[in-house]
Amino acid sequence: MAKTTLGYIMVGPKIPLGINWAYYNEYFQWMVNHETELKNLDNQGYWHGLKNESERNLPRHANRSPNSAYIPARVEKIREDIINTQLTYLLGSGNFRPNESYIKNRTCYECGVNISTVGKYLSTLVREVNELLKKGGNTSFTITDEEHSALMTTVMKQQAKNFTALEIEKAQIYLPQRGRRRLMDDLYGFCPQCYQDIVKPQLGWNKNIV
Ligand SMILES: [Zn+2]
Repeated sequence: MAKTTLGYIMVGPKIPLGINWAYYNEYFQWMVNHETELKNLDNQGYWHGLKNESERNLPRHANRSPNSAYIPARVEKIREDIINTQLTYLLGSGNFRPNESYIKNRTCYECGVNISTVGKYLSTLVREVNELLKKGGNTSFTITDEEHSALMTTVMKQQAKNFTALEIEKAQIYLPQRGRRRLMDDLYGFCPQCYQDIVKPQLGWNKNIV
């Protein structure tokens, strides 16, 4: 699996042998130059503030919510470029999916799970639970959360033989709730669980820099 020692350079005293210090310094310098953007990576208000006059005055549109939550593509691109650059420093190019690229049959760069198969597992759970509901003359709105989890457990047991342990494990983060589900998609080439556990904590401003 693609994994580089550079992924660990900023996590405290665990500095691996053979680290390229010139590269490390360049990354450090880049972070310092982008301190504000990195500190506000997940702060929507900051990115809204980058809208120019004409972007602020765009007419209301069906796709834009009235509280101007809309961030124009130009500003979104600035943020995406920051993330792509940071991931290149942390993981090396070729070890993540840059935001603008699309790859059809994606496997997670960290755990290797096939992301569309995880999606298929989740849709199967939803479909099978709906079948059981229909048979019982119910909908997801006529049962309780507890009854829904019991049905989900039954269906998961039935489906266990059709998917790998890894696919099932990595699907848990998006396990459908009663009447609610999240569509499986990769985040920069990682399954949502690996993104949350490994990639996300490394993005943004590094608190070890003082
Ligand atoms: Zn993964």
